[in-house]
Amino acid sequence: MTPCCIALGSNLSGPKSQVRQGMRSLHTLPETQVVAHSSLYRSQPQGPQDQPPFINAMSLVHTALDPVSLLLALQAIELQMGRIKTRHWGERVIDLDLIFYGQRQVSNAEPALTVPHPHALERDFVVLPLLEIAPDWQLPNGDYLSAHMPHCTSHDLVKLT
Ligand code: ADP
Ligand code: MG
Repeated sequence: MTPCCIALGSNLSGPKSQVRQGMRSLHTLPETQVVAHSSLYRSQPQGPQDQPPFINAMSLVHTALDPVSLLLALQAIELQMGRIKTRHWGERVIDLDLIFYGQRQVSNAEPALTVPHPHALERDFVVLPLLEIAPDWQLPNGDYLSAHMPHCTSHDLVKLT
């Protein structure tokens, strides 16, 4: 079993309940155990600014699925929850991104899969929820994720109670 970090995001159709539904759906993944869910956070959108704020969270799972199978299972949940492709970095009912697959690096063409997720380390709405549930997380090069926090771009992240 490999520890994996899955980022959840939503800014449409009741984003908090969408993220909670996304978390519940992770419990249905085959060959996978959910270890922890972070709190919910609110962040201001990157990219197009004429869209609602995002609700973000992170889940830690242990899985026996290979990286591509896990991505396909996450995309199936997105579809099942009614995700429709809109503009780049635009509004979405649910976004499930595979941020880390243990300390492995993955570069797959079809389906496109890059792990660690590109730009993950620069986003406070990814790094802070992850550190909440996995404070000792290590990058493929052995660095501690916590050491990268100062390099994150601020999206006015607010932890929700
Ligand atoms: P984004 O999450 O960047 O806003 P999408 O959710 O629309 O965009 O995903 C676009 C594509 O990114 C997907 O078709 C998927 O194959 C690809 N992708 C590449 N690496 C990853 C990853 N680590 N996690 C999720 N999707 C990824
Ligand atoms: Mg995505």
